[in-house]
Amino acid sequence: MTYAQHISELVGGTPLVQLTSVARGLAATVLAKVEYFNPGGSVKDRIALKMIEAAEASGELRPGGTIVEPTSGNTGVGLALVAQRKGYRCVFVCPDKVSQDKRDVLAAYGAEVVVTPTAVHPEDPRSYYSVSDRLAAEIPGGWKPNQYFNVNGPASHYESTGPEIWRDTDGTVSHLVVGVGTGGTITGTGRYLKDVSAQRSGQDGGRVRVVGADPAGSVYSGGDGRPYLVEGVGEDFWPGAYDPSVPDEIIAVTDAESFDMTRRLAREEGLLVGGSCGMAVVAALRLAERLEQEDPEAAARATIVVILPDGGRGYMSKIFSDRWMQQHGFLAEDDGAADAEGHD
Ligand code: PMP
Repeated sequence: MTYAQHISELVGGTPLVQLTSVARGLAATVLAKVEYFNPGGSVKDRIALKMIEAAEASGELRPGGTIVEPTSGNTGVGLALVAQRKGYRCVFVCPDKVSQDKRDVLAAYGAEVVVTPTAVHPEDPRSYYSVSDRLAAEIPGGWKPNQYFNVNGPASHYESTGPEIWRDTDGTVSHLVVGVGTGGTITGTGRYLKDVSAQRSGQDGGRVRVVGADPAGSVYSGGDGRPYLVEGVGEDFWPGAYDPSVPDEIIAVTDAESFDMTRRLAREEGLLVGGSCGMAVVAALRLAERLEQEDPEAAARATIVVILPDGGRGYMSKIFSDRWMQQHGFLAEDDGAADAEGHD
């Protein structure tokens, strides 16, 4: 018999799938790494497991403790499913732009959810960073994984995501495209792919190019943190989990482009994924087009891997709602997809 003893043992080992429709006509091979195959439905299961196990080993998290974390939902799910097995309580702090669907999911896993305003500065006492700091200090046995600064976030990607991509592409990956939130995924995965390709080729710095995708307005692409609606990516400060020396370049993507591509991925590729996935795919396709303009032969040999961090079920009332898209000016009033409104 083959079975896991707990769902948390099934984290990682996600598949690559080629994007054929949205990448049609491009010379490069574009492969998506589909992180919704993780048991909690997102890439964040990887860091949750590693951060908890490291905190147990260091004594920061003790039996019966409470995990307090600011999370847009996905990290919370990962932490909650590992915490359940180990008997920890979870209190999660979410900004109010996070969809109700996502908050309900956290509650369903047994976590307590505290909601804070999105449009305040990180140092403001009402910000989700400040509120989580206060709760972690006040609650006895409280421990804050602090995904924005925890080195075990990028380390989990160095140990799992990076090696999986190298193995599944037989070492042919030439470009990695990742949306940047805490920066943990791009830092750990990108660093691994650079290190391993440097070792194999003897080429300093390796031959894998690492490209960050960022919502226009966020700090990574030179903005000031101006609000954008895509969830889970972009920042208004520089997290310690992000090593800016890893990406070779950052591509800024607007909400409109991200959401349009997110809907296309569902309709054309059968990939019902979140908005940060659409954003990363826009960046990957823009990269593929540019490679082709610069050097068509090299573009034909390129294997671009783009990470799709989560599934789309948590965004049905937003990105996949014609009305919401129209209200925010992302879809013309007469451009609604009638079949999305209940016709088969
Ligand atoms: N997309 C989504 C939906 C996320 O929740 C996150 C995590 N904040 C990311 C992308 C970015 O990942 P990272 O924090 O590793 O940069």
